[in-house]
Amino acid sequence: MSDCIFCKIINGDIPCSMVYQDETVLAFKDINPLAPVHVLVVSKQHIESAQALNESNSQIAAHIFSKIPGIAKELGIAESGYRVITNIGKDGGQAVPHLHFHILGGRKLENTLG
Ligand code: AMP
Ligand code: ZN
Repeated sequence: MSDCIFCKIINGDIPCSMVYQDETVLAFKDINPLAPVHVLVVSKQHIESAQALNESNSQIAAHIFSKIPGIAKELGIAESGYRVITNIGKDGGQAVPHLHFHILGGRKLENTLG
């Protein structure tokens, strides 16, 4: 997707502060952190959102979730705890239409989810 900001980051056209990558995922610091630790874990394949997951691509989501614990450990928040969020569509507050999971931690997060 040529006009997708996360595809541009994945392609190296826009810089990022990388935390982890492999052949399937890229994790980098959010440019506008909402907590002391705020990292985005992004699929390298352009998938619009979690609403576009299905039998043929759900192994990507499984892979992302298999890597999140190690990323959290690396970020120093595995013990204290953290939140993983994916926003979907307009009402979900999704600004970038490319599958990504927010990892938020480093402080006690608010008890509001909606
Ligand atoms: P969402 O609202 O779930 O689509 O989240 C998109 C996130 O991407 C926001 O938290 C933005 O701060 C973040 N973001 C947008 N552009 C960049 C960028 N160039 N580098 C890092 N994070 C970004
Ligand atoms: Zn994309």
